[in-house]
Amino acid sequence: AEKPLYAFLAESAEQFKEKKALHFMGKELTYDDLYTQAKQLAFYLQSIGLKKGDRVGIMLPNCPQAVISYFGIMMAGGIVVQTNPLYTERELEYQLKDSGTTILICLDILVPRVTNVKGKTNLKHVVVTGIKDYLPFPKNLIYPFIQKREYNMVIKVEQSDETHVWQLILDNTPADYLEAEIDPKEDLALIQYTGGTTGFPKGVMLTHYNLVSNVQMCQAWLYKTKGKQQIVLGVIPFFHVYGMTTVMNLAILQGSKIILMPKFNAEDVLKTITKQKPTLFPGAPTIYIGLLNHPNLNKYDLSSIEACISGSAPLPSEIQDQFEKITGGKLVEGYGLTETSPVTHANFIYTDRVNGSIGVPWPNTDAKIFKMDATDEEAATGEIGEIAVKGPQVMKGYWNNPEETENVLRDGWLFTGDLGYMNEEGYFFIVDRKKDMIIAGGYNIYPREVEEVLYEHGAIQEAVIVGIPDAYRGETVKAFIVLKTGYTVDESDLNAYCRKHLAAYKVPRIYEFRNELPKTAIGKILRRQLIDETQEIST
Ligand code: ATP
Repeated sequence: AEKPLYAFLAESAEQFKEKKALHFMGKELTYDDLYTQAKQLAFYLQSIGLKKGDRVGIMLPNCPQAVISYFGIMMAGGIVVQTNPLYTERELEYQLKDSGTTILICLDILVPRVTNVKGKTNLKHVVVTGIKDYLPFPKNLIYPFIQKREYNMVIKVEQSDETHVWQLILDNTPADYLEAEIDPKEDLALIQYTGGTTGFPKGVMLTHYNLVSNVQMCQAWLYKTKGKQQIVLGVIPFFHVYGMTTVMNLAILQGSKIILMPKFNAEDVLKTITKQKPTLFPGAPTIYIGLLNHPNLNKYDLSSIEACISGSAPLPSEIQDQFEKITGGKLVEGYGLTETSPVTHANFIYTDRVNGSIGVPWPNTDAKIFKMDATDEEAATGEIGEIAVKGPQVMKGYWNNPEETENVLRDGWLFTGDLGYMNEEGYFFIVDRKKDMIIAGGYNIYPREVEEVLYEHGAIQEAVIVGIPDAYRGETVKAFIVLKTGYTVDESDLNAYCRKHLAAYKVPRIYEFRNELPKTAIGKILRRQLIDETQEIST
């Protein structure tokens, strides 16, 4: 594991040369193309002043430029900072400032947003890539990455001292960049911001060694796929740590071909699988659920799929079984977090998986359950406590935040903030996130348990439980509900239903019906936002 991450790209380019590396809506790039363009970009970034350790942002959906930029920046010695292309100006400004990013690579339609915040940050150079740089980009596909008012703008970008045009870089730059001297264990490859589900995103410092270790673990886990060229479906975003490692980095390490999809749309994904025949499909529960619920599912052929890993949120067993039935491949659950590059646990793919469990710790990874009373004492088998992990994939710390680092990194153990337990066989189970646990009238309530009951109600499409301040009980339970179309259910129906299936103290006291719930880029429901909204109304 003691090499910089980009060594994999050099090795794959050497070995696979003309083999296809990327497929983007009909256009393909070989390993040679990918490596050459990454080298050109590295040279260019150095020529505009990039020094080792400088932070370079990438604000792109899944597209060839995202992969080229990621490796090119690291090759030049820069630290990658991935930015969600959906970020508003406020969110973008926070991340640029916090990370001290000086160069940003972005899509041309994002230029107005970037320009508005540039003066308030350390940002100096903006490299702009057009939606047409690799192909004409149909309008409906870019829509989710821009805000409505930017939608109809014609973006014309001229090369200048501080604005750099992607196409000109590729046309005019040699590939003989100067390789940075990287100490894989010390030097950061990436500052990756957490998903922001529970609060403000934190910058996680990941070294080359962290990333290399984790992607090698992924490869070991998939051992049976060695030998033939894999085709990987890249629909989860690479700007999120999960897609970055399990799709992009794993594919480049193995010399696989990535089918790049800039956004999730069930119909597009079904069509693409039928046509491009991917063998691996890392995803998240909301993605598999979206595909299974598509009315024309039967029209499509998903039989090329051999292995899927689901992470980022709990995977319902029913979904797992149904998805395996229609693909004929395996779908197993894994677990991880940004702070661990991200994967620490997964079920075995070919043998002995346990439904409802996140599996066992990966090779070279230790995991323990610590008692909840903060004594740093280990919990007994089956007892609920906080999951902690130790291993080469554990972050160096939070960027600019030594206090929070000390909070979660103790004696080499990363305290995940997730509550769970381990069974006799060493399988781990997640109960909930510590931060989501509600304490009402002295009782501990795990939202996930209440949500599972609500999900079993035939009229409910989505349900989320949060704790809101209550003068008498400390906190009280509030439910946000999205009903399936065509159903009407009111508060008293739900109340009666919950009373039947849950102990009284767990039953929600307040229900709010919504048409949809706010979600993160990977599809997690934003509880924090719902709690904040409730508080704003009541104050
Ligand atoms: P933030 O940490 O900023 O609140 P986030 O939770 O979206 O945001 P990530 O690092 O993307 O940050 O997510 C990690 C979390 O996702 C884990 O701590 C865990 O709570 C949850 N998670 C991951 N995999 C699973 C799984 N298989 N089952 C249940 N929860 C999971």
